[in-house]
Amino acid sequence: MIHREEIQHILDGYDREHITVATIGSHTALQILKGARDEGFKNLVICKKGTEEVYRQFGLADELLTVENFKQVLGKSFQEQLIERNAVLIPHGSFVEYLSPVRIENELFVPMFGNRAVLDWESDRKKEREWLERAELRLPVEFKDPADIDRLVMVKFPGAKGGRGYILASNPDEFEQKHKKLNLSDKDEFTIQEYVIGTRFYPHYFYSPLTDRLELLSMDIRYESNIDGISRLSYILRDRHPEPSFVVTGNLPVVVRESLLPRILEMGQKVIETSQELFSPGLIGPFCIETICTEDLEFIVFEISARIVAGTNLYINGSPYSQLLYDEPMSTGRRISREIKAALKEDSLDKVVY
Ligand code: ATP
Repeated sequence: MIHREEIQHILDGYDREHITVATIGSHTALQILKGARDEGFKNLVICKKGTEEVYRQFGLADELLTVENFKQVLGKSFQEQLIERNAVLIPHGSFVEYLSPVRIENELFVPMFGNRAVLDWESDRKKEREWLERAELRLPVEFKDPADIDRLVMVKFPGAKGGRGYILASNPDEFEQKHKKLNLSDKDEFTIQEYVIGTRFYPHYFYSPLTDRLELLSMDIRYESNIDGISRLSYILRDRHPEPSFVVTGNLPVVVRESLLPRILEMGQKVIETSQELFSPGLIGPFCIETICTEDLEFIVFEISARIVAGTNLYINGSPYSQLLYDEPMSTGRRISREIKAALKEDSLDKVVY
């Protein structure tokens, strides 16, 4: 893992009057670019060849660099180009996916918004669970042994990106049958998790270490195929439906009933406090916890994303919650740049970048 001091050393060489907010052209890049521009920064987008037109089309990028493959960003000369431009990279879901958490930790010298130590805690399912349990969140029950399955469960495989390839089973026999069909090797790890029935909420938070304040900026529900299609036909399909899959295809806006807000804020606060104990200075900036609210109005948390999530794209012009906090359009992308600006003003960029 690249030490914080090494990144700080690079940051010391930066011209603070000419910071460039940079990101990879995918996921939430458009709102990150717009947010940077709205806050008065120069911005830059790194595009995979063939996708430049999207970023030209919207006219939001001051500079566009093209790569054949995103892994090129990790190359020495590419990183030097970014450092010359005083770039602060904004990580998002695709950014971490394409560059890989381990390679980011060990090879990316360009200063990044947030705390890169979080990558380790988020990408390892066991560590993620430890974090969330210590934050006293309720998590789905896990079954270590398939023979113990006594209710509907979801079997999660590490390679199953975006919910593709998960299987559902109600008992050990059904698990065996479906598992066999997947032709996995004995080494393939998986997690067997209680399937929680309820309504999903994905709150988008922002934590500022400068003011020690947690903000609830927005919230979404993921629209997933084919499960959201099956549910429309459940009466007709009955038990003839295809194996459900959970591939994210879009996002829907949502607000919760107001009496649930205290718990939503409390959960976010606990996640921050625990992160500070586990990997000081803890989580910085945007994050999202993936929850299911049961009929008893309890939130069960099954995952955390420790960065800007794609559901925030619904709110480039602000959400009902961000409108209460800010009297101007405040997307998560813009909130990141606002934090960088505030840090620069008080000469503490090192508090928000690693
Ligand atoms: P991503 O990394 O994009 O968040 P993923 O591949 O890690 O996706 P999950 O987020 O774990 O997948 O799950 C995908 C979807 O499956 C969720 O959005 C939710 O609809 C459903 N899901 C996951 N865990 C549970 C659970 N325990 N009970 C009910 N539904 C669940």
